[in-house]
Formats: sequence, C-alpha cells, structure tokens
Amino acid sequence: ASLLTAIEMAPRDPILGITEAFNADKNPKKANLGVGVYYDDNGKLPLLECVRKAEAQMMEKLSPRGYLPIDGLVAYDKAVQDLVFGADSSVVKDKRAVTAQAIGGTGALKLGADFLKRFSPNAQVWISDPSWENHRALFESAGFVVNTYPYYEESSHGVNFAGMLDTLKSIPAGSIVLLHACCHNPTGADLTDAQWKEVIATVTSRGLIPFLDMAYQGFGDGIESDGKVVRQFAEAGGPVFVSNSFSKSFSLYGERVGALSIVANNAEEAARVLSQLKRVIRTNYSNPPTHGGQVVATALASPELRALWEEELAGMRVRIREMRQALVEKLKAQAPGHDFDFVIQQRGMFSYSGLTKAQVDRLREEYSIYAVDTGRICVAALNSGNIDYVVSAIAKVL
Ligand code: PMP
Repeated sequence: ASLLTAIEMAPRDPILGITEAFNADKNPKKANLGVGVYYDDNGKLPLLECVRKAEAQMMEKLSPRGYLPIDGLVAYDKAVQDLVFGADSSVVKDKRAVTAQAIGGTGALKLGADFLKRFSPNAQVWISDPSWENHRALFESAGFVVNTYPYYEESSHGVNFAGMLDTLKSIPAGSIVLLHACCHNPTGADLTDAQWKEVIATVTSRGLIPFLDMAYQGFGDGIESDGKVVRQFAEAGGPVFVSNSFSKSFSLYGERVGALSIVANNAEEAARVLSQLKRVIRTNYSNPPTHGGQVVATALASPELRALWEEELAGMRVRIREMRQALVEKLKAQAPGHDFDFVIQQRGMFSYSGLTKAQVDRLREEYSIYAVDTGRICVAALNSGNIDYVVSAIAKVL
C-alpha cells in the first residue's frame, strides 16, 4: 500500500454541491439562490464598465510581467489603505497601518491567521455563530482552536447582542475575535452603530485582538458607511487586523484581489510588522499576481474611473435592496400570515430567510429553486424575471 492508499474522500463542499445539482436540473424555471456572487437583473455575472476601461488603459501600455514586491503593487496597497481607513485618517497619515496585497479575501485571512499563529501561538480564535463557512476551517488549518460567540437569534431574525457581548466580556485577553465589518455572511444581520460602539469598547478595554473581515464594502449602505467600523477600530488603536476583498465590489471574483492590513501603534512598530508579514507571504506564495491588483489600482487612481466604480457599485447595492423590498411586498400579498419585514433590515448579498430545511427541500424538489439548508438565500440571485416564480413557490411551502 502506498501513502495515498488509505486516504479517505474529503466531504463535499455543501454550496458547490448545490450548484452541481442546479446545473443538472432541466426545469426551465429553475433558480439558484444558493450562490455567493452578485448577478445582475438578467441573472448574469457583470463585467463592470470601470474594469473594462481600466483594462483598456492597461492594454495600451502593456508592460513585461516581472515579479511584484512581496507585499504587492505599491499603488494598490496605497489605494486599499485610503479606501479602508480613509486617505485623511491619522492611521494613514502617521503610517501606523501596513497593507499587503493578498490572493482575495480568503488569502488575506490566511495571511493574517499565519501571522497571528507565529506571534501569538497560544491564543484562540472566536468567530460568530454562524459565520462564513470557511472561517473555521481556515483558522483551524493555521493551527488555531476556533470557538464561536453567539450571534444570530432565530426568534428575532436579528442579533443576540447580549449573548455576543457576554462572551466578549468573558474570553481571555489576547483572544482573536473575528468580526464581519458589514453585511454579515450568512445571516445579513448587522450590528447597530450603538452596538458596535459597545463591541469596540469591550474589545479594546479587554485587550482582545480584532480581526475585521470586510468582503462586501459598498453592498450595505455605501462605501463610507460600510467602512465606518474599520475606521473606528483603527482609531481606537492597534493591533487591528483587516482583510478586505474586491471580489464582489469590483465583480473580480476570479482575479483574486484582496488585501490584509494591520494597524500598529506607531510607524516604527508598523515597519517591524510589515517585515514579518513579508516573511509569511514569501514562504506561502512569494508574491502576488499582477493583473487584478493593477485593475483595481488603475480604477481607484483615476477620478473618472473611480466615480464610475462608485456608480456601478451603487447600482448593485440598490438592485439588491429593491429585490429585498419586492420579496417582502410580494410575500405579504401571497402569504399574508407571515412576516418577512426583517429581510428589508438585513444588509448585503445574503438573507437568512427563516425558511426551514424541510421548506428548502420542498423548494428544490417541487420547484427547482435551490437554497442553502440553513435557509440562506442570495438576494442578488433574485431578479425581475424570477422573483414572481420564487415568491409563489415560497408562499406554497410556508
Ligand atoms: N469573507 C467573507 C465573509 C466572504 O463572504 C467571502 C467570500 N464569499 C470571503 C471572505 C472571501 O472572499 P474572496 O472570494 O475574495 O476570497
């Protein structure tokens, strides 16, 4: 027997499994609400005009493909910092933050996890219950014990804030707390401003390490507004870890463009942090790819393209919110005994719809409508062509 003989089949990814079943379904009315990407009103993945124009500019001055610096394209890292912390923030002006281009938001999380494991090997990690399904596996694969803090509350379709805060007040100093900066995945339930204030005060005063995952900046209430929590944490002082992603906000999923930023207490500390972060990168993949970062840097550096991006991002945000509104209004008409108003309060691409596993099964089996077992639906997969069919099916399984 060889080394590989005894290796067992790994469990299938539950969400990719949904897509496979959807693709095989021959019902012309089928709808896949299980996805994690933004589709436009035609049910298509958009190529943003700002990306098309940035790439056209890049085509005009094609350059050789040398290696980028270990921490990525300088103009990209700068643009990310300005976007995430604010160009006029003291964090940026005082050079307290370091930013490294990363292989998407996932790559940014893994860099942060590997860095933390190196310098705080005995800390444990706390993620929300529930959280993006890769958070646990990712931090575990970096060697951490991963725990959960209470988050979603089924009865209110909102956040169990008292439970969350209690946990943050009781875990050991130095614990790493993963927080969704905006547009919580999978629930869509975000904290209020006042609740964030309490979380920031608790995390800061108790010496917990905040790790803010921001994969959906601009999909909630706007670029500025969605970035507020990151800025408030950064102002409260380091260390703060921030992973951000342009997969959704630039519709650049396959280009793998994200970044990890670490806020230190001063420029000298930040320089030491960066030197060590580069070692983590160097031993993982040496340096990031050129294209995606260049697209984003080009778009963010040009006032014209930047304005176009903001417009296009707003278009995606508004369309999602219109779909939330339409879903609720149409359900009100067809299933008057059921209250779905909470769907309008939720933010980002996803909604914990409150549908049970049995209802999700029926939607799939009887109507070819695919959702995640937890009842998570992707609101961005709804469109003017499928919403009536989806609503009438939901009304029948309730
Ligand atoms: N964090 C969260 C909360 C996400 O939802 C996602 C993507 N679905 C990521 C990180 C990873 O982003 P990327 O695709 O850029 O790796």
